Amino acid sequence: MAAIGLFGGTFDPIHFGHLRLATEIAEAFRLEKVVFIPAGLPYHRGRDAHASAEQRLAMVKLAIQRDARFDVDNRELERAGPTYTFDTLSEIRAERGPDVPLVFLVGSDTFAKVNEWHRWTEMFELAHFAVAIRADDAEWNSKGPGAYPKEIWPRITLNARELTSEPAGKIITFAMTPLAMSSTSIRAQVKDGSSIRYLSPDPVVEYIRSHKLYA
Ligand code: ATP
Repeated sequence: MAAIGLFGGTFDPIHFGHLRLATEIAEAFRLEKVVFIPAGLPYHRGRDAHASAEQRLAMVKLAIQRDARFDVDNRELERAGPTYTFDTLSEIRAERGPDVPLVFLVGSDTFAKVNEWHRWTEMFELAHFAVAIRADDAEWNSKGPGAYPKEIWPRITLNARELTSEPAGKIITFAMTPLAMSSTSIRAQVKDGSSIRYLSPDPVVEYIRSHKLYA
């Protein structure tokens, strides 16, 4: 059965690093769809300017509009209180049934802190995890899987077929095209008055400009 990709993130703003991650993992593991799930309450918020939940959702929609494989799910934005990946995965698993393979897409820097997530060990009963190794991830570059909590080591597989033969439970890493960009650096560039063209799709760049975001 074809697997469905689920891609959670703050997307403040969405950029080509996110879109390449989704595209490359979708192709490598033959995902039928990748559903972008903007987070309701970001885990970390600095002192710099941020976009609202509605604006982040609008930018995701603009970025994915021309790719039939991409979809967006706004459930975390509608949820009152804290949003946890565990809750989102539980809901989607209940809606889609027990058999469909679900693959949660995540960058290696984010995944290194997975043991701090709410009910993290139970998440692996709900989905697989495909971890994109980020070029700028010093922790992974020096330690490899040793950068991750040891509880997850037995779940790591090199065999992509295990992502479709089982509904959940495996972790696979993926070396994506290095794109050392982040939403943080884009926000800083806007603040400095630098151009952010070619870091995110043109409609997103235009949206940021016309809504005077991050300035
Ligand atoms: P911020 O700079 O605000 O922390 P971010 O650019 O890391 O944001 P998020 O929305 O927090 O973006 O990221 C969503 C997911 O995408 C995370 O799992 C993150 O690791 C991954 N990701 C973000 N940028 C890249 C990139 N350039 N290459 C690979 N993965 C990325």
